[in-house]
Amino acid sequence: MQLLENAILERGRVKDGDVLKVDAFLNHQMDVSLINELGKEFFRRFGDRGVTKILTIEASGIGIACITAQHFGVPVVFAKKTQSRNIDGEVLTSQVTSFTHQRNYDIIVSARFLSPDDRVLLIDDFLAKGSAMLGLISLVRQSGATIVGAGICIEKGFDVGGKAIRDLGIDVQSLAVIKEMRDGHIVFDHDTAA
Ligand code: 5GP
Repeated sequence: MQLLENAILERGRVKDGDVLKVDAFLNHQMDVSLINELGKEFFRRFGDRGVTKILTIEASGIGIACITAQHFGVPVVFAKKTQSRNIDGEVLTSQVTSFTHQRNYDIIVSARFLSPDDRVLLIDDFLAKGSAMLGLISLVRQSGATIVGAGICIEKGFDVGGKAIRDLGIDVQSLAVIKEMRDGHIVFDHDTAA
């Protein structure tokens, strides 16, 4: 998606070789009108699939998921990263390894908010090694709900996550796919982006 690629080129920064900072517009300071265009694009791609819930993971996914959900007219559920089980009733849990924070943590969703009748669209800001997505997929599978697809803002196409999730038969649609980031120079892959 050209608008997102332009934002990455103009306002993103490459750090330590393989971390892309997009905190000027996507996951710290948030450019709401840009993110609204991303939400519209997710709706254009997934709007005909009978989505009943959008599932994301705190914290960066929440704002993007909420803006996207306004186009679908469905609720957002976000998986909490937690040590404590401070949630009422039955919970679904999974484990995620954070690439940016270099640690493992549990993610948790109340079983009340995902049911076998739900058709779930997964949303996140980044897809890199796929750990966050795999954690969300596990939560949905435990609930018996159906995954209709995964909408990703930025996929690191050079990393393993995209293939791992697509190999599970999940329709991953990424609005920008990065082929390489070398010496701060970003090259996009237009074949995977669809
Ligand atoms: P994965 O679990 O696929 O390895 O990584 C996905 C998560 O890690 C995303 O939710 C995102 O928060 C974070 N992440 C991975 N790579 C990057 C990156 O290059 N930049 C930023 N800002 N976050 C990243």
